[in-house]
Amino acid sequence: MPIRLATSCSNCNNLSGGNTCTQHKIQVSERHTCDSFSMQEALKNNMNCGTCTRFNTSDCPHPQKASAEMLCSSWAPKAVA
Ligand code: SF4
Ligand code: SF4
Repeated sequence: MPIRLATSCSNCNNLSGGNTCTQHKIQVSERHTCDSFSMQEALKNNMNCGTCTRFNTSDCPHPQKASAEMLCSSWAPKAVA
């Protein structure tokens, strides 16, 4: 089962400083989302083996093909502290 980035406010283009949603003018958190969710470009365009938590591990289903330019349906985001 593929694991994907959450479509939550924390990954949304409309989140500004102070956890304020610029669309709805309210305070939000990573627990919220809405129909206006818009994935941040930096996250959308950064899905590849280099950002996959399975890269170079036994959990990668394509160890012979995995490279920084590749992506497969088993991609899983690395934990961010
Ligand atoms: S409430 Fe909707 S538009 Fe606002 S930050 Fe969250 S997901 Fe984005
Ligand atoms: S091949 Fe798939 S699972 Fe393996 S590192 Fe690349 S994206 Fe991750």
